[in-house]
Amino acid sequence: MRMTTASTCCYCGVGCGVLIEHDGERILDVAGDPSHPANLGKLCSKGSTLHLTGDLGARALYPELRLGKGLARSRTDWDSALEHAANVFAETIREHGPDSVAFYVSGQLLTEDYYAFNKLARALVGTNNLDSNSRLCMSSAVVGYKRSLGADAPPCSYEDIELADCLLIAGSNMAYAHPVLFRRLEEAKAKRPEMTLIVVDPRRTDTSELADLHLPILPGTDVALFHGLLHILMWEGWIDRRFIDAHTEGFDALKSLVRDYTPAMVADLCGIPVDYLQTCARLIGSAPAFLSLWCMGLNQSTAGSAKNSALINLHLATGQIGKPGAGPFSLTGQPNAMGGRETGSLSNLLPGHRDAANAEHRAEVAGYWGVEQLPKQPGLSAIELFEAVRAGKIKALWIACTNPAQSLPDQQKVHEALAACPFVVVQEAFFTTETCRHADLLLPAASWGEKEGTVTNSERRISHVRRAVPAPGEARADWAITCDFARRLERRLRPGEPSLFAFENAEALFEEYKPLTAARDLDYSGLSYALIDTLGPQQWPFPPGSQQGTARLYGDGVFPTATGRARFIAEHYQAPKEKREARYPLTLNTGRLRDQWHGMSRTGTAARLFGHVEEALLGMNAEDMRRRRLLDGQLVQVKSRRGSLILPVQKDESLRAGQAFLPMHWGDRFLKGLGCNVLTLASVDPLSKQPELKHAGIEVEQA
Ligand code: SF4
Repeated sequence: MRMTTASTCCYCGVGCGVLIEHDGERILDVAGDPSHPANLGKLCSKGSTLHLTGDLGARALYPELRLGKGLARSRTDWDSALEHAANVFAETIREHGPDSVAFYVSGQLLTEDYYAFNKLARALVGTNNLDSNSRLCMSSAVVGYKRSLGADAPPCSYEDIELADCLLIAGSNMAYAHPVLFRRLEEAKAKRPEMTLIVVDPRRTDTSELADLHLPILPGTDVALFHGLLHILMWEGWIDRRFIDAHTEGFDALKSLVRDYTPAMVADLCGIPVDYLQTCARLIGSAPAFLSLWCMGLNQSTAGSAKNSALINLHLATGQIGKPGAGPFSLTGQPNAMGGRETGSLSNLLPGHRDAANAEHRAEVAGYWGVEQLPKQPGLSAIELFEAVRAGKIKALWIACTNPAQSLPDQQKVHEALAACPFVVVQEAFFTTETCRHADLLLPAASWGEKEGTVTNSERRISHVRRAVPAPGEARADWAITCDFARRLERRLRPGEPSLFAFENAEALFEEYKPLTAARDLDYSGLSYALIDTLGPQQWPFPPGSQQGTARLYGDGVFPTATGRARFIAEHYQAPKEKREARYPLTLNTGRLRDQWHGMSRTGTAARLFGHVEEALLGMNAEDMRRRRLLDGQLVQVKSRRGSLILPVQKDESLRAGQAFLPMHWGDRFLKGLGCNVLTLASVDPLSKQPELKHAGIEVEQA
């Protein structure tokens, strides 16, 4: 019998609703859910082919264990697998302390999975060594929002895209990375041609093709651009003095800092004509409603926090926040990067948008969980964590639902770290990932359509993710694996104590977690699975008694800071870490393709998704190719200070001279060498600890 189950897409942060067609055993088809507010029935090429990506040949089906490096893993049962893991973790913790183990999780996990990992790491093990691949994705936006507005809360809604008069997209090829939202923008612009679109991107992309004004700035110069725009806005009297005086602080310091960012200086530094800058400022300054959208181009940078803050400054200076069609709106890369932040799944956070460094916050969560205390010692962020593994400080590492052996920068070192780590557990749906090769224990996880929980999308909207079919083989839901392991570990670490992990289903985790959001900026303690099912997906905050979520934040001009005022952040432009120099004269940018997702563990199983781009190609400017006597399709060696790889080159008219582009998706399953991140560098933003994945010095020569 054919049935339909409503759920969500498991790829990007748009969080589209999907209708899964199935027969109770197998997923047969997928369609957009017309009742879901995020996508109103639309799906992109990735979402609409989800049913074609269930290839069992790539799925991890049974637990597999090896008892020594260099040995092959062999099939085992769940009981033996988790008993072994609990023994190793307990012994390691006893012998070397709680910070000798770590957990590295993922924005692909559901909120309930995340919560289970949080409780396991902080309450049971007693370590803050829990970080997520969201560190590579959104952590600069987190710092940007918290520093400027007081909380990690995108204040806008998708409907603001339709209501904006001027829209600025910075560092995002939204047409590829958030396609359904981009369709919404295209339709809005077709209906209201007077809406102006500005795109800031070093490359000419499908997104910039729709723009009224494209600013192809030199890579990494965003802070200078935003300061230059503020300089003009002030000079022309296009700022909102009333809003600044009533609702913000720190404007004078910023005003004196941006005095130096004259149009001529900024145009020169950014490599754009000065009249582009003037036009951009005029479009922003004269718009009744100004909305900005951004993504990895700002976040994945050693100046990621400063870039976020400099863009938010423009909104505060013009009073463009808290009203329809206006505000600074970060686009979330992954399906549940927001849920991870909400549950505290970055090493510096705790559940309910709390901070691990805050003693009061630690005491609140410890009290709620009924444990004496939570760990004070700061946790390691993604890059630090793998450095600690490589240095032998982390002796047992649990990786869930992510592929660091493909996605982290400076890959050679990541592989060395994983090879040297005494015990690596990988909890994963697809055994084909590069990271699985390093697993001493591989635990098969349920995947899309096979598990239940919740996710929060870019506009703070929480959807109920529903299970349509059973997981294949012996695969289990992520929360169930984590809690089963935790119960075994607590029998060793706190024998005789009542279990902290007596959860029977995902909903029980949600019910325990949600009071931790009560009376906080993200309060969704009034929400339940039943209410989502009745009212549809809802945007937080959703306190008890609510009948609908909150579309927009800060409409009253009050911000969740100590003074209630938003803060201007005054920081100078800093150049990217790697300067161009004779040995590495080109700048490598990495980014997404339209039809692939992350490390391709799922999309790489569907032939149809290779129709758009068949293979990894290095894109180069024609003049740079001519100087090196390179021809289209020729194999080249790409070298950075960290490593090299060999792949074909292709002329790319979208790139200015001196720049090259490589899609982020291809790992060593597809390339000669360790994949594209063998080239990228592990330098991080000092506040967000997000690495600079979009800016590496390279040289290219004939292979
Ligand atoms: Fe899935 Fe994102 Fe495409 Fe929507 S836009 S169908 S969430 S990949």
